[in-house]
Amino acid sequence: MSIQLRRKEEIELMRRANMAVYEVLQILREMVLPGVTTAELDQRAKDECVRRGAVPAFLNYPSPSPDVAPFPGVICSSVNDVIVHGMPSNEPLKDGDILSIDFGCSIDGYFGDAALTVPVGNVSAKAAHLVDVTRQSLERAIEACIAGNRIGDISHAVQSLAEANGFGVVREFVGHGIGTRMHEPPHVPNFGQAGQGRQLKPGMVIAIEPMITEGSFETKILDDGWTAVTKDGSLAAHFEHTVAITTDKPYVLSRP
Ligand code: MG
Repeated sequence: MSIQLRRKEEIELMRRANMAVYEVLQILREMVLPGVTTAELDQRAKDECVRRGAVPAFLNYPSPSPDVAPFPGVICSSVNDVIVHGMPSNEPLKDGDILSIDFGCSIDGYFGDAALTVPVGNVSAKAAHLVDVTRQSLERAIEACIAGNRIGDISHAVQSLAEANGFGVVREFVGHGIGTRMHEPPHVPNFGQAGQGRQLKPGMVIAIEPMITEGSFETKILDDGWTAVTKDGSLAAHFEHTVAITTDKPYVLSRP
């Protein structure tokens, strides 16, 4: 599959799916408190999909490895040192945790994808700073989503801000094109050089998702075959938006 350029009508269909993603993430974010389980958040996300006629995109997503069962959750719920692809569980969230929630769905065959990291109760200043910088790095990346710029301009925007704050930028997992599939070309890395890579064109739609760590950027996968954690056990944060390139300003589909 090559990079797809979407017509205006298609982008509006993606807007619908992405606004469903936004609404569900807002509901989940408000549920996050010490004592709540990520399984409860997952069930709520499933119910909210049904209400909106949306099909969860992550549930039963196949693993690239044949020995690993498909993903069991509607959301990815990644606590503390879990970077991405954490499975919903019955373990209650604790005061001071940070929780990344990634959620995607489709409506009428068009996909939406977004993520955010939420503090649970009172978190350390360092954790709050990590979450803040990760969110800001996504905003910088969105500002780079101008036709004529290159993928490397997005990558550089994330990396330069994260590293200026002394944080690590995950290499193994990257953003992606999105449209009639959850994951389409191109790759959108969170590290790279400005002015390099594919040129951004009106009609391209990409999911940008910085994954930033407090320590080293090295990762490992737990025995469940999905859960990606920092190798050094340091905290990780993750934010994501789906963005359409236009002839004018970036169009962030996954927020009002
Ligand atoms: Mg994504």
